[in-house]
Amino acid sequence: MKPEGLKLINEEGLRVDGRKPDELRPVVMEVGVLKNADGSAYVQQGNTKVIAAVYGPREIHPKHLTLPDRAILRTRYHMVPYSTDERKSPAPTRREIELSKVIREALESVIFVELYPRTTIDVFIEVIQADAGTRTAGIMAASLALADAGIPMRDLVAAVAVGKVDGQLVLDINQLEDEYGEADMPIAMMPSLGKIVLLQLNGVLTEEEFKQALQLAKKGIMKLYEYEQQALRKKYVEIKPEEV
Ligand code: ADP
Repeated sequence: MKPEGLKLINEEGLRVDGRKPDELRPVVMEVGVLKNADGSAYVQQGNTKVIAAVYGPREIHPKHLTLPDRAILRTRYHMVPYSTDERKSPAPTRREIELSKVIREALESVIFVELYPRTTIDVFIEVIQADAGTRTAGIMAASLALADAGIPMRDLVAAVAVGKVDGQLVLDINQLEDEYGEADMPIAMMPSLGKIVLLQLNGVLTEEEFKQALQLAKKGIMKLYEYEQQALRKKYVEIKPEEV
């Protein structure tokens, strides 16, 4: 229940954190943040902070999971106990198990798994601070970490959630908007191919609102896609040749 008097859009048409309806939260993206993973990335969107680590392609344990014609993809989405207002149990919840599955399905359509038969690619997503949009930030971090690990993909994946708050569609919702809004629609895409790899809807939208929400998400996704490319380029441009 929304607390009485809580306005998610004020008289000037601005949101609780001062953003316009079609404005993304400030973004930080960094590639190659962990030395012990084959690929890694950090993504921050407002107060949501996520780190992803990729291992592989590597040998599978247990062996019976091996597939003769492709790599298997294993994903774990996990929120650390201190990521939320109230301490979250470190044990995997039903929500984390479901999110691990939908993120795996999204990434499976992106990676050329057929290039690495009899191996596994393992993706670990750790949410270190949650303020909504953790699955979308997690997918982007995973996509950057996969690129960092040199795993061939059809495209990068960019993702964002559109919400409906106080009757208005807004881009990249935060926790308050997620909690007290009327709808939440996370979307992940391969932007340059125009393909949607994840779309979920919590709440109710009319057909017209759904179409507008999709357009709004695509606008945000194209921006996030640019940031992802910048983050990848930065890592490789920053490598300085060793002195001889
Ligand atoms: P997403 O993070 O992808 O938006 P949800 O819509 O399920 O996923 O969650 C929205 C937000 O609710 C999360 O980002 C987090 O801030 C908060 N949240 C989710 N699960 C918990 C939890 N177990 N305890 C406290 N807050 C939570």
